Amino acid sequence: MYTEYTPGKLHLVLQVGCLSALEVTRLSVRFRLLTGTYILQVNRSRFNQYAIDPVCPNCKDADETVGHFLLQCPALKHVRGPVMCEIWNILNSIGATTNIYSPTLLVQALIDWSTIVPYQPRLREKQGALEFLVRRLIFLHTEK
Ligand SMILES: [Zn+2]
Repeated sequence: MYTEYTPGKLHLVLQVGCLSALEVTRLSVRFRLLTGTYILQVNRSRFNQYAIDPVCPNCKDADETVGHFLLQCPALKHVRGPVMCEIWNILNSIGATTNIYSPTLLVQALIDWSTIVPYQPRLREKQGALEFLVRRLIFLHTEK
């Protein structure tokens, strides 16, 4: 996926506002993931001189990567399932699931859905619902 960013133009994901204090809290995690500055165990272990285990602290089954915590962590499965179902329903309702044919593309779409959801005023309500759910999904990781 390729996204063209225009200086001075607000990113589509950021055009969705926050309606509560909880959403503001979720937003900081959301921004760090969007900008690639969210620190996971894999990053800690790679850039630390001390022995740090890259394994997911939630399940201790696999390395903690973005793909793992968004889609695969078994410790988050019960809370992730309903949110992913709602996300998929929204993407499907606007025909955006046809471009998602691998887990990697799904992770990219979750991090930045603007790459697969076109900017159209008629989709604004669905974009807002989608962004709310993505923020919730990402924040599940920190709530555990
Ligand atoms: Zn895990």
